[in-house]
Amino acid sequence: MIKLKNIKKIYQIEERKLNALKGISLDMRKSEFVCVLGPSGCGKTTLLNIIGGLDRYSSGDLIIDGKSTKRFTDEDWDTYRSRKVGFVFQSYNLISHQTVLENVETALVISGIGREERRKMAIDALVKVGLAEHLRKTPRQLSGGEMQRVAIARAIVNNPQMILADEPTGALDSENSVKIMDLLKEIAKDRLVITVTHNNELAESYATRIIRMKDGEILEDSAPYKSAVEEEKKEEKRKSFMPYSLATKLSLKNLAGKKVRTALTSIASSIAIVGIALVLACTNGLNYFIDKIQMDTMSSIPITVSSKSTNYAPMIEGIFGYVSSTAKGENKQAPTNSVIINHALKNMQATEITNEISAHFTNYLENGIGNKKGLDKNRVRYDAVKNVTKNVYKKVNVEVYPISKVSCPLNIIEQNAGSWSCLPPDRYILDEQYHLVAGKYPESATELLLVVDKNSAIADTVLAKHLIDVYAVDENLGKGYYTYDEILTNPIINEYNLVLNDDFYGTENFSTAKKVDLTSHIETFYRGEVKALEDILKSNEYIKEIYNSIRCYNVDPNKDDGSIKLKIVGIVKLNDDTQYGMLTSPIAYTSALNDFVIEKSYNSAIVTAQLEKDGVNVLTGATVSGKTALNNTLSSFGYAELPTQIKFYPRTIKDKDYLLEFLDAYNEINGDNPDITYTDNVGAVIELVRVVVGGVSAILIALTAISLVVSAIMIGIITYVSVIERTKEIGILRSVGARKKDVVRLFVTETGMIGFIAGICGLILTLLVCIPLNVIMANLTGVTGFVFLYWWNFIALIVGSSLLTVVAGLIPSLLASKQDPVKALRSE
Ligand code: ADP
Ligand code: MG
Repeated sequence: MIKLKNIKKIYQIEERKLNALKGISLDMRKSEFVCVLGPSGCGKTTLLNIIGGLDRYSSGDLIIDGKSTKRFTDEDWDTYRSRKVGFVFQSYNLISHQTVLENVETALVISGIGREERRKMAIDALVKVGLAEHLRKTPRQLSGGEMQRVAIARAIVNNPQMILADEPTGALDSENSVKIMDLLKEIAKDRLVITVTHNNELAESYATRIIRMKDGEILEDSAPYKSAVEEEKKEEKRKSFMPYSLATKLSLKNLAGKKVRTALTSIASSIAIVGIALVLACTNGLNYFIDKIQMDTMSSIPITVSSKSTNYAPMIEGIFGYVSSTAKGENKQAPTNSVIINHALKNMQATEITNEISAHFTNYLENGIGNKKGLDKNRVRYDAVKNVTKNVYKKVNVEVYPISKVSCPLNIIEQNAGSWSCLPPDRYILDEQYHLVAGKYPESATELLLVVDKNSAIADTVLAKHLIDVYAVDENLGKGYYTYDEILTNPIINEYNLVLNDDFYGTENFSTAKKVDLTSHIETFYRGEVKALEDILKSNEYIKEIYNSIRCYNVDPNKDDGSIKLKIVGIVKLNDDTQYGMLTSPIAYTSALNDFVIEKSYNSAIVTAQLEKDGVNVLTGATVSGKTALNNTLSSFGYAELPTQIKFYPRTIKDKDYLLEFLDAYNEINGDNPDITYTDNVGAVIELVRVVVGGVSAILIALTAISLVVSAIMIGIITYVSVIERTKEIGILRSVGARKKDVVRLFVTETGMIGFIAGICGLILTLLVCIPLNVIMANLTGVTGFVFLYWWNFIALIVGSSLLTVVAGLIPSLLASKQDPVKALRSE
């Protein structure tokens, strides 16, 4: 079965050639106990290693089962070793961090035998060598003789055709030596056993054949043999390989044995992971925050097509474009603030937008033009507002002290009623940003809604502007705040009065409601000391200011003037997670109020007159030229035919892109109809913010990547050290049939595991760091959970960390696999 034909082995040592084997020819029986004797250095070990496929012969041929090995590949040798040869060494060569049972099993795992069978075979082999009681011990807990028996068990476990034992008794006392020789002789009954020994006596009393060597040659062969010509057999191809499970197990054992080193390495590289994870988490948070703000602000400053508005986008781009071009050195001097502002203002003036919103355009939104479909309302909701001026006054108590000790009621015109917020057509849109805290949601034209901020407050100046609170002095309510109930029940706070055009402007000589004749009112309500009004106006600036500035509906506030009562019926509050609400004024009304006013105004004298008279404002006498100007004039009289403003509320950032594309498309297919221009002021700002955020996070990631490189180098060094330390183990694995690939696999698994552990540690650390970070961010931005990671970030980081360490460990692993198994075994 084994036949050596003129085997020579030449070692090249620097310039010198050393002939370790000088043409050995031997033929072995299928079953015999061969002892090789000879002085140290005569080439016994070399011979054994060549027979066992651990080392390669320089010339000649080794015939295995009738087959030449001249064309054997590394893989063929590996298979041969793991299937047909069992090695026993003088120094036992056990893997010290594995148990006795595991050491024996390792050989079987590499031959690809199943788990159950493996265990059974390993136990059988250990029973055979008499170690049934020591299965769970580690080699360190055994005596020399016992260790050698483990090595023999490992050698015979998969029932190989030959056992090669290199001085198996060399390190043992004579008693143990005899036991080992007994065991080998027993084994040799049904297979070939070749044993190298120094001990003549032992050889003579046990061997069935003695081969004496000297200087790389055979001196004497006690029982030469010439095999019959065997026919060439087909080599059974069963590849030996190391499954990842074994690699993982070996790596885990090794890592467990070096806990401190593993922990330190993992922590060090996990810090790099923490850096990247944190940057990612912050970038996630920022982008989420920016998107959220964009969507929120888009509700209060929506993309708008209106008859008149200002587009700030060119201004914003202008400022930044200007600053960045100067920064690039096109203009040597740094711009001063005033230069920048002037530049911005110039741009702003250039972009005052007027639109003529045509029926053609509204029809485009609703139904589309030609084969272009209308706007998808599931993606973008829009609100076509006919925002017309409303004649509204509020009866408030004005304290005109010192004219009067008591407050006197006046019908003050609410000049800001024109900028009250119109409620969106669908309730749910409002519910995304606000929740009802008292009363009910307005349903009819005469019902209003009060809007409070996150703190349930409205700023004093805002209240004053809308004639709530500050002027509504009531002796019973002078405590600085109102309860919701008081607001909803006290008409002095919650009531406004709507006056229709004919009452407000008159029907013939149109005039706006006049300044109040304070004298008459004061005379009516005065209950204190009399003073001439003129004197008071002269001496008191405050009264003078009121007298000059407020406009009143000049009707006796104590008489019912037949006006329509508008009443606040509910209070909504801004949600905590909303940054900017869509309702920008404290009073909001339903679009039914607009419709009602428009309907009533249509038949009013002033609108009729205006529609008849071209080119001149019938109230002020100012020139009115063009359709847009006429529409604006009409809307100031409470009438509008077409929407004055269309607000678009896209649901997501993607829907916004769709909307802009849809609007841009209109100007291409509108034919003779007027072009439309939209304003997207929020988008312009957000785009800039995004560019800045993107740049900053790219820099941060680049910086943390450096630490990643450092940790990769560190892993490489650690692996290299590990390779040097485990040279012996590599040799043992190779002697039982592991391929080069398997050795790479072993180390790659190990480094991969360090990377995996580092990844997990890093992410846990990151999550811990995120807790205080989120508390800080919540205080700064009001957003909870600002810093966060998506699930795919977790996976990417763990995979990335493992991959990086694998790559870092690859070079040392390749070095390890290149190690000559013979040298590896010789190393101590
Ligand atoms: P033995 O086992 O009989 O003591 P070896 O087979 O180990 O002898 O060695 C035979 C000769 O080959 C010795 O001179 C030894 O120094 C030499 N030798 C063995 N291995 C190597 C090697 N890897 N490189 C160079 N010389 C070697
Ligand atoms: Mg030797």
